[in-house]
Amino acid sequence: VFDSDISFSLAQFVPCTEAEGPGKRFALWFQGCPLRCSGCCNPEFLKFEGGESWTVDRIMQEIAAVSDQIEGITLLGGEPFAHAKAAAAIASETQKLGLSVMVFSGFIREELESRPNPEIQQLLQQIDILIDGPYLKDQPDTTRRWIGSQNQRIHFLTSRYRAEDECWKQPNTLEIRFGPNGLEVNGFPSLPTVDFWKGKFTRKPLPAVSGASG
Ligand code: SF4
Repeated sequence: VFDSDISFSLAQFVPCTEAEGPGKRFALWFQGCPLRCSGCCNPEFLKFEGGESWTVDRIMQEIAAVSDQIEGITLLGGEPFAHAKAAAAIASETQKLGLSVMVFSGFIREELESRPNPEIQQLLQQIDILIDGPYLKDQPDTTRRWIGSQNQRIHFLTSRYRAEDECWKQPNTLEIRFGPNGLEVNGFPSLPTVDFWKGKFTRKPLPAVSGASG
């Protein structure tokens, strides 16, 4: 049982996206990552300062509001395991809704499993799909959907998804929308694509180019 008053630093969320994992998903980016992968596509989410303070209860209301439109949630960052207490609570409450949980982490699975921190272990127990490992910009992955670099691994921690599922064989998805903060891009854009869109909107800074964490 988790305390719904647990607070965390939210960078942003997208209620329904097809660019961050199988099917339609609620995607949540935490604010703050202790790692510094060269070429990280979410540099604005690295600092632990900033973001907006939310409670687990508040974000669960947002997830519940779209629960009939999505098959799961995806937690990204920033680094979800640096926010393990809240992330574990969100993941647990999401599983209770019958939705799946996918997490992108810059840490590798073995490292996470060896950590004595109970909140990290609780989060691991709630994950259906874990994408692990830091983003290595000199090893870009052009074949696996949603995956940033070749070193990153896909771990199916439950039987809910399989490597054979068709969704993994589709090309990468890039979504562009006009939100309250201006142009918002998520998915895993190639750098030339990002540069193209930045060039199109030179008057307003691009507020968020949110790809896969880790
Ligand atoms: S790629 Fe992911 S793990 Fe690496 S610095 Fe960026 S947010 Fe952190």
